[in-house]
Amino acid sequence: MKRVERRYEMMARSISYITGSQLLSLRRHPSIAIVDVRDDERSCDGHISGSLHYASDSFSDNIPNLIQAVKGKDTLVFHCALSQVRGPTCARRLVNYLEESKEDTGIKKILVLERGFNGWEASGRPVCRCTSIPCKGE
Ligand SMILES: [Zn+2]
Repeated sequence: MKRVERRYEMMARSISYITGSQLLSLRRHPSIAIVDVRDDERSCDGHISGSLHYASDSFSDNIPNLIQAVKGKDTLVFHCALSQVRGPTCARRLVNYLEESKEDTGIKKILVLERGFNGWEASGRPVCRCTSIPCKGE
């Protein structure tokens, strides 16, 4: 029991938030990957240009693929529609996985986008509506 509590503390500590305006200026940085964990909504609502898609309902099974896909990136920014449940949950699952596997992935920071995709779009920030998988960006 003690051990579980301590791990929870570590997880909670290692996740912080990034605002939409911070992400807007950082998103083209080559060391940043944006990870969209929305489920089916992604296909009808559009997405942040260049973001990867790992749906929350199958997220845990796809963690090894995600780690492959973000090779060379050190900062991962998670979001869902509002970034209240699915985004932070998946971010914590990844933190957990990395702590347990002790793999050297090069991932240093795991962040969650404040207010999620809906907040991003509501603030008039650019939304990509391409249908390529993965999104190739603008
Ligand atoms: Zn796109």
